Amino acid sequence: MKIAVMGGTFDPIHFGHLRAAEQAREAFGADSVIFIPSALPAYKPTPEACAEDRFNMCVLATESNPHFEVSKMELERGGETFTIDTAEQLKKMYPEAEIAFIIGADSLETLHEWHRANELFEKCSFVAVSRPGFILPQNTCPPHVTIIDGAAFDISSSGIRKRICFGKSVRYLLPESVERYIEKKSLYKLNIDIILSKAKEKLSKKRFIHTLGVVEEAAKLARIFGADEQKAKTAAALHDYARRHSTDKLIALCGKYGIKTDKIMLDKPVLLHAHVSAAEATSKFNITDEEIISAIKYHTTGKSNMSLLDKIIYVADMTEKNRENYKGLDELRMLSYNDIDAATEFALKLSIEFTEIKNEPVHPLSIEALNHLKATSISEE
Ligand code: ATP
Ligand code: MG
Repeated sequence: MKIAVMGGTFDPIHFGHLRAAEQAREAFGADSVIFIPSALPAYKPTPEACAEDRFNMCVLATESNPHFEVSKMELERGGETFTIDTAEQLKKMYPEAEIAFIIGADSLETLHEWHRANELFEKCSFVAVSRPGFILPQNTCPPHVTIIDGAAFDISSSGIRKRICFGKSVRYLLPESVERYIEKKSLYKLNIDIILSKAKEKLSKKRFIHTLGVVEEAAKLARIFGADEQKAKTAAALHDYARRHSTDKLIALCGKYGIKTDKIMLDKPVLLHAHVSAAEATSKFNITDEEIISAIKYHTTGKSNMSLLDKIIYVADMTEKNRENYKGLDELRMLSYNDIDAATEFALKLSIEFTEIKNEPVHPLSIEALNHLKATSISEE
């Protein structure tokens, strides 16, 4: 019996994996290919989707091929995944079988560095398939590796994750059933690293450092007060996304996105950036979550009846660690770790005071926000 094994994080599985497996199965003459999603890959960052979702996607992707099956063995073993442990386990399960691991040309480059590599090469062989962007060695390959130089797809899981995060289509890159599963479970939509890398391109160095500070502070407040940390980080990462646009551009974008402006916003165009950032969170990153959008939109003025996330972003923007010191900052920061309502009320008061000192008009939304907080804190007494 010949068994081929396709290991990977499958985060998510795509046609590159499936085609590589099918090519290797034919060339190696394997009776079956076992797809084995890894728990914590030894040489890669932690996968974004959980083990169960990655396993389920592999099942969906392979169910129409009678030669393909999916094993939970690495997920059940848990911990860091080393192929040598999998090879030993498979040898015990199928003592008579010839076992070959399928790897892409990218993985072949580092194969000799894998954990207990020499023992691994004694126990099983490898079938290396081509992958765009990587060169397969033709004559210099070690005896335990067979090269299959077939047509390969220029598809990667990381590329797919990025496309989903930017709201782009992933059709024809992976099976429809997997695409539907990703949609249903809202996988890969909020990827803070990808969002931040885009924000970095959009912002000045100073403001990007401020954004990183708000992300950290908002996450901390979310943990303290039981808000969704992922949402808090996403709103923080994008709160100033449109900050660098010129006034003309901000006004033009308000028109494009159908944002209603008022006299104070137009007199003080910096107020527009929050609304445009919220609109761009949707248009550029496909974020439609109302809590995230609201927290971005009202982070400069506040509003009546603010949600917990609105308050967290409003306060974190004023207390993050890179903020230059101002009168009241220490007190506000201390307050923010104990009572988010009192902190938001105090932050609004400070912000209104600063605005008045500068002789600038205060937006009515800030007054409404403050009055609402005062009224609720009195009624709670
Ligand atoms: P990521 O972008 O997250 O690294 P990936 O697309 O490389 O994901 P993995 O789960 O890391 O997918 O890959 C599992 C195995 O499949 C590896 O051996 C890899 O070389 C191989 N592989 C992945 N994509 C392709 C492809 N398009 N063509 C050939 N082999 C591939
Ligand atoms: Mg990879």
